[in-house]
Amino acid sequence: MTEKLYYENPGQTEFSARILGIEKDKKGWKVVLDRTCFYPEGGGQPADRGTINGISVIDVQKENGKIFHYLNDKPENDHITGKVDWDHRFDYMQQHTGQHILSGVLKRMGDFDTVSVHQGEEYTTIEIAQQEIAEEEIYRAEDLANEIINRNIPVEAVWTTSDKLDAFPLRREAKVTGKVRIIRIDDIDCVACGGLHTATTGEVGLVKNIGTERIRGRVRLVWKIGKRAYRDYRQKTEIISRLIDMFSARLDDLIEKIEKQQEELVKRARTISELQKRLAEMSAGILCEKAVETPSGNRIVVGRMDDIPMDSLRKAAIKLAEEDSGKAVGVYVCLLGIEGERLNWCLSVSEGLDLPFDRIRRELLPVIGGKGGGKYPLWQGIGEKIEGLNLFLENFKEIINSMERDKS
Ligand SMILES: [Zn+2]
Repeated sequence: MTEKLYYENPGQTEFSARILGIEKDKKGWKVVLDRTCFYPEGGGQPADRGTINGISVIDVQKENGKIFHYLNDKPENDHITGKVDWDHRFDYMQQHTGQHILSGVLKRMGDFDTVSVHQGEEYTTIEIAQQEIAEEEIYRAEDLANEIINRNIPVEAVWTTSDKLDAFPLRREAKVTGKVRIIRIDDIDCVACGGLHTATTGEVGLVKNIGTERIRGRVRLVWKIGKRAYRDYRQKTEIISRLIDMFSARLDDLIEKIEKQQEELVKRARTISELQKRLAEMSAGILCEKAVETPSGNRIVVGRMDDIPMDSLRKAAIKLAEEDSGKAVGVYVCLLGIEGERLNWCLSVSEGLDLPFDRIRRELLPVIGGKGGGKYPLWQGIGEKIEGLNLFLENFKEIINSMERDKS
């Protein structure tokens, strides 16, 4: 049986001990000691980290009443020195004790019973047995918890037995038999718990709610506790300071300035879209005038329409192809345009005309490093070789003319 130094003195980080058993499994060397400061994972609290004779402790687990220290390597002698990573341990002591305080406060405030808790690497969550909780209630819980932290109340650990639990005002029923460890924080919280806690509430430092989540129809409160809350405050202050500089604002008019700029951006986007539409119509008109005739008397409209989004390019191609629809002549349309870093292409034909798209895909798309497709009477896609633009337009005319010549 290993002596649990972590219960006797949770502040102790270094210890010497003797190896009682050692075996190897796929996770590493499993070591049992006669005494240990290493807390094994349990009660929602992760296992301690640290070293044994300089070898990394990768995990600590309780299995069938034994505490196994998993090591990367085999210790050379039976007498060891263990060192617990205090930053890691203290962080989780703050998370865990902070959670006790918050769960106690929530319970006392309005029967917000804690259903489950999770101590993650980034934050601690408390799921409560309610579908919702008002923002003011969360602020109240936060204020009350921080008051209790400021009062620096001792966090007591008391050993008792399961038949004597009636003497304790437990927040939730204890499901254990035999020896039971009770954690009591004045009249704020009292619960059976095997985890590690700070000696006083003051050591928790600070609790700060950073939001809520919905889970299984219930609310989960998300908290930054202890040093994490201070780090979170620092990070958010840095972000806000940068925003204040960027928007030449003060803290109290920052949101208003950002909202105004957003409205401005929406207005400009609308104007740009309207201008692009007009530009597309004008360009289409000019290209239409420059149309060339094919051997069968049809017309070919080819040209560049830069800075036009694909959607407008497509509309222009359809409109140009419809110009002569139903009349004696039809139109073959090939539009290309540079938009930012890429090339857009769009092809269309009047009703009744053929477009040899298979040939175009084979012979023309490689010229612009293009891809895409479509179905009669509209094809579209993008290309990455902008330098192939003119050759594409020229060859399009060639292909249409040779197709018409072959037919006649
Ligand atoms: Zn606890």
